[in-house]
Amino acid sequence: MTLYISWSALRTHEECKQKGYLKREKKSAPMANTRIFFPGTVTDRVVRDWLRNEPAENVGGMPDMVSSIIERERDAILEKGDTMLWKDKSDRDQVEKECREAVSKIEPALLKYVVPFRYQADFRFKAPIKVSHPAGGTELVVINGYMDIIVQDDLDRYWVWDVKHTRNNEYYKKTAGQIGVYDLAVEIMFGKPTVMSGLLQPLATPMVKRIPTSGEFRSQLMQRVAGMANDVWTEDRTPRADTSECTYCEVKHACSRFTPVKSSGSRRITLI
Ligand code: SF4
Repeated sequence: MTLYISWSALRTHEECKQKGYLKREKKSAPMANTRIFFPGTVTDRVVRDWLRNEPAENVGGMPDMVSSIIERERDAILEKGDTMLWKDKSDRDQVEKECREAVSKIEPALLKYVVPFRYQADFRFKAPIKVSHPAGGTELVVINGYMDIIVQDDLDRYWVWDVKHTRNNEYYKKTAGQIGVYDLAVEIMFGKPTVMSGLLQPLATPMVKRIPTSGEFRSQLMQRVAGMANDVWTEDRTPRADTSECTYCEVKHACSRFTPVKSSGSRRITLI
């Protein structure tokens, strides 16, 4: 059975195999409050919707999209059963102001690095590889996920951009794995890696932040994906060695360290 592995699933599995397993089994508790992620979601969606609707004919149009997308995205969160609470009476206005600033500042970069070329916003990818199975032979593993923006330039080269709503100039240091997975997926799908990958972070400096990629890092990522596949196939769900990340873990209520559970048997599992 095909195994699907996203960057998020790989990162969680490497943080704690028990947590990775429980999240694959959809045991996460509903998020207490999604407010911390909300401005980033709004900025992403405004950029995506603008890029999908003749951006060259709507230059300067993104700020006026912010208010309605705040309402639409908040409704979507509430419909899913998650929570999105404003901090206080002025919080919604503050979020709108921040997002208007972000989408105003990002537009010149989009007009330079994206709009002149072939591109897709919110690109859903599936990059298949063969991995040795512990029972013998190989099995298909699919690296999957979404790229905020993939560009194919006029020299048939690929670029990938991730939009980050952050004021932290050091945030890029946390993104090497995510960008590396996109770069690897591009190589698997199109036969060549990206020539440029990085962040468009309109509230940070520099706004256009390239993240280096390399053949060596792509090889390491392949090994990490194969390692996770092997753990899933052998049902290795070992809780992390220390408890430093356990206090606010979203699957703690179901964790075998705190609530011993019976094994579900030896069936193979597909990640979604
Ligand atoms: S509570 Fe701790 S050990 Fe259990 S799944 Fe979460 S991080 Fe892992």
